Amino acid sequence: MRQFAVVGSGPAGFYTAEALAKAYGDAAKIDILDRYPVPYGLIRFGVAPDHQSLKAVSKRYDKVAETEGVGFIGNVCVGTDVSVEDLLGFYDAVILAIGAPHDRKLGISGEDLPGVIGSAEFVGWYNGHPDFADLDPPLDGTHAAVIGNGNVALDVARILSKTRNEFEGSDIVGHALEALDASKIRTITILGRRGPHQIAMTPKELGELGHLEATLPLVDLNDFPPREDDEALEPGQRKSVTILREFNDIRANRPKSMVFDFFAKPLSIEGANHAERLIVEKTELDDKGAARGTGETYEVPASLVVSCIGYTTPPIAGVPYDERGGKFLNESGRIADRLYAVGWARRGPTGTIGTNRPDGYEVAQAIAAAMPAGSSGDRAGGEGLKRLLSDRGVKPTDFADWRRIEAAEEAAARSGSPREKMVRVEEWQRTLGH
Ligand SMILES: Cc1cc2nc3c(=O)[nH]c(=O)nc-3n(C[C@H](O)[C@H](O)[C@H](O)COP(=O)(O)OP(=O)(O)OC[C@H]3O[C@@H](n4cnc5c(N)ncnc54)[C@H](O)[C@@H]3O)c2cc1C
Repeated sequence: MRQFAVVGSGPAGFYTAEALAKAYGDAAKIDILDRYPVPYGLIRFGVAPDHQSLKAVSKRYDKVAETEGVGFIGNVCVGTDVSVEDLLGFYDAVILAIGAPHDRKLGISGEDLPGVIGSAEFVGWYNGHPDFADLDPPLDGTHAAVIGNGNVALDVARILSKTRNEFEGSDIVGHALEALDASKIRTITILGRRGPHQIAMTPKELGELGHLEATLPLVDLNDFPPREDDEALEPGQRKSVTILREFNDIRANRPKSMVFDFFAKPLSIEGANHAERLIVEKTELDDKGAARGTGETYEVPASLVVSCIGYTTPPIAGVPYDERGGKFLNESGRIADRLYAVGWARRGPTGTIGTNRPDGYEVAQAIAAAMPAGSSGDRAGGEGLKRLLSDRGVKPTDFADWRRIEAAEEAAARSGSPREKMVRVEEWQRTLGH
């Protein structure tokens, strides 16, 4: 019997477990570990609460968790409760699928002022991540700025723009819904260092903005290249740029605005005791398509600044790390003998949920090639790990615990609106009797 540990229960972890279960059948035990007693990583804590259809992918992961030979060991933080070296003692292979939970820094002055928040924190706050339940973002000013030109920036700007009515059917947590409902923000500026042709925003997400109840998306057509230049773009990007252009044709009176500020490079954030404004330099594209400052500066008022400029994987002791890439050093997912990485911990924070599937399958195939299904190992697997955790006073949780938490959340949802997720570790512990 082979024993495998997949560390992280987000998409990459589940696709890898699925692929290993297919490759080995009943000749392997696969434990999916997570630092939390509930699974799915960014499907629970990242994907926007008003995009429920995307979260349905978790049904597929549920099936994996129910597969014979697949186990869930929650409440275990690898690198803190157990080391990777410990895990390699118990398992034939260890696959790190811990994602990239830390915000990249802006690297400009004023970034530590109150009111300047990374998207991992802000997104975690409205999605019920226990680390950010008390974030209390400042929503009492009239201006917010969102830095970045990808879909996460769009998520953040859209969530700041929506009315209470528009969250109907979402699973936004109650504390965020109340705070957003009382928000005084009227102008949300989205800043990107380059132009409309360089955005990393997809058509579906952009298209939603035209239909917001209380917010008008605004673009300046002077930022756009001549329309015929759009022909050279790949079809998806062309569609995104067309949607952006068409924002200019919307004739509607809405009390809030979402301003797309292109060719805008934040230089610093200023304010007496908290963020009040961004100092921004106008840019232009150089001949390699990179943003180059023009020396012309202007101010963008903002008492809330959310930076959406990417994420990094935290290093774990003993695991080779790529400082520049902010991920584990690996070659096609292989870090070292019997140690692998998948998903964002392998590639960095790019791609969609589905991009993690080929990652997981490729690594599972590499493992199966190194340890053919007929061969056997003699490692202690999850039983050995649980003995060690018990010696260290760590209480791991299992699949039944995860289901108990979900059942308690569903019961809370039935008794009120919106669907209520548990947002504090203590609530999980109380539910589990810890
Ligand atoms: C704000 C946001 C919105 C997004 N929206 C979409 C979208 O609409 N559509 C789409 O296709 N993609 C979306 N994505 C991208 C998608 O979420 C990612 O591609 C995917 O979640 C990456 O999977 P992963 O398994 O590598 O990481 P994650 O999903 O982050 O999973 C990592 C798991 O590892 C666990 N973990 C972390 N550290 C440890 C540790 N030390 N020990 C044990 N466990 C640990 C975490 O708790 C987590 O469960 C979004 C991403 C973000 C940030």
